[in-house]
Amino acid sequence: MSDLHLSHRLQAVADFVPNHARLADIGSDHAYLPIYLAQHHVIDYGVAGEVVKGPYQSSVAHVHQYGLDEIIKVRLADGLQAIKATDNINVVTIAGMGGTLIKNILSAGSNRLTGNERLVLEPNVGGYLVRQWLNEHQYQISHEVILTEDKHIYEIIVGDPALVPLHYSQLDLMFGPQLRHERNVAFVQKWQTELHKQQLVLTNLQKAQHVNIERLQQVQHQIELIQEVLQ
Ligand code: SAM
Repeated sequence: MSDLHLSHRLQAVADFVPNHARLADIGSDHAYLPIYLAQHHVIDYGVAGEVVKGPYQSSVAHVHQYGLDEIIKVRLADGLQAIKATDNINVVTIAGMGGTLIKNILSAGSNRLTGNERLVLEPNVGGYLVRQWLNEHQYQISHEVILTEDKHIYEIIVGDPALVPLHYSQLDLMFGPQLRHERNVAFVQKWQTELHKQQLVLTNLQKAQHVNIERLQQVQHQIELIQEVLQ
């Protein structure tokens, strides 16, 4: 079988999986990520977890086609229930989902985590919720990437167990503790678009017959925060 090529987004997730990792890729869909990592001898062992039967079957077929059944175990399971204690997983990837779903998967399955795993998370939206979960569960945000692919903007957030208690500010949680200082092109584009959206919301709220003061103040506050970070 020929070498698999990952999208720019999935490659950026793969780049944060260390050598000799024992990986659980949750919501694996086609299992491309663990297959790529096994082909490149990055992972020693992998679990591809999927909750939906169609993608699960596609993962099983792909892993078999690539001759990787010994290294990658495909499991039909909800979230982190795909992980068994005997897997000795030390890296979990959850990519291509909303921040709310990622947070719910982590919370519902926290009994499957030892707290020593690296978490490589790629929320399509709702990065705030993912960072908030990491902050509340003694993880430090060790790496962050924001990138554009096919006109979409993606964020990759890496959580590693925190050695000392950390408390991220609201600005850190909203914009990313590293991303907000780096402010690369994708970051500026994302927050300029968001600023524009919030300004439209504000205009509509101001035009309403019964002004919702609380919501209006919330939106004004969001706008101020975005303007502050973009300055
Ligand atoms: N991770 C791949 C990627 O980034 O390209 C696939 C992303 S795909 C958009 C999201 C996948 O997550 C779907 O295949 C969906 O069935 C799966 N999924 C959603 N909720 C899940 C859950 N609770 N447990 C396991 N898989 C889930």
